[in-house]
Amino acid sequence: MTVGIVGAGQLGRMMALAGYPLGLDFLFLDPAEQAPAAQLAPVLQSAFTDEEALGTLGSRCEVVTIDWENVSVEALRRLGRATRVSPPLPAIAAAQDRVREKRLFEKLAITTTRWRAVSNRRQLKSAIADIGLPGVLKTRRMGYDGKGQAVLRTAADADRAWTQLGQVALLYEELVPFDLEVSVIGVRSRSGECRVYPLNHNLHSDGILRLTRAPYGSARLNRLARQHVVAVMEHFRYVGVLTIEFFVRGGRLVANEMAPRVHNSGHWTIEGAVTSQFENHLRAIVGLPLGDTHAIGHSAMINLIGTMPGRAALLRHPGLHLHDYAKQPRPGRKLGHLTLVEADAGRCERRARRLLAELAPQIHIP
Ligand code: AMP
Repeated sequence: MTVGIVGAGQLGRMMALAGYPLGLDFLFLDPAEQAPAAQLAPVLQSAFTDEEALGTLGSRCEVVTIDWENVSVEALRRLGRATRVSPPLPAIAAAQDRVREKRLFEKLAITTTRWRAVSNRRQLKSAIADIGLPGVLKTRRMGYDGKGQAVLRTAADADRAWTQLGQVALLYEELVPFDLEVSVIGVRSRSGECRVYPLNHNLHSDGILRLTRAPYGSARLNRLARQHVVAVMEHFRYVGVLTIEFFVRGGRLVANEMAPRVHNSGHWTIEGAVTSQFENHLRAIVGLPLGDTHAIGHSAMINLIGTMPGRAALLRHPGLHLHDYAKQPRPGRKLGHLTLVEADAGRCERRARRLLAELAPQIHIP
């Protein structure tokens, strides 16, 4: 069976790596010349909206999925006439637009930030009056890794933020003084079976994920996150992996955003869970039974950003798993990741701290 993947980035690459042992084949669509997944499977190199390439993908693949959530939903809808597309398009559409996403959370009684849609300066002023300062102005669409965002601390910041972002539709929300950030990853099969991974504890710097530790949190917090991700999956009759990111404040979860796909904070599941998020996504979309989502120890995942450290130096660390996405280095670009799995939580934490201090000494780990 051939799985089509729109987007041939590192997520698609890791899906293919997880899918070959199951006997699956892959075909990618991506405009990039040297996409990370190209080492593994053929890539139709053309725009994500190219009719002919989408037609080829539809005719050659039994099921099509995404590795990038900002793919045109219209293009996916056309593709859906020829083949099965998972996850469902309404879920992808909701995740592409921060306003739709907030409304969804509110509808499903998932606490989220206080927010207002903003499309002109007057609306920004009244949003600031309603929500207060500090706050964050974000583009409704195409935001990722902290891009398309500006923090407003004083009224004077409003003009600067408007000049920076005001050309497109925006959302203003409160700046949450969070204690920490977590994410939950769930998977739902075609037959409606749901499984959820333990919570991930995420540390960001400059809007980019640097470190994930899992499993994290009390049974109560895990239960709550589980309820939320299952509620969203049931709402869409979802098929595949879905991620929700939360702020944690005073033991409560405040939803930040969701991703209708495998997620960077779930990379530890490759070595640290019985079944990885990538394998479970594939199992879900091709109609196979889901795998066990339990952790098999304590894991830490460190992103390699901007520059790739020497492989030999990294691999001298016993038991360290290196994933190199075969990407050209560029400041702020995710080039790979490292995973440690330990039986002992304290040892995992100590090793992760030492490694991160070595690789990115500027990052403070609370
Ligand atoms: P996002 O692209 O919305 O996931 O934002 C990236 C990161 O910016 C988040 O993981 C947080 O660390 C930070 N951030 C975004 N929105 C807020 C907010 N409303 N309050 C506090 N921090 C935020």
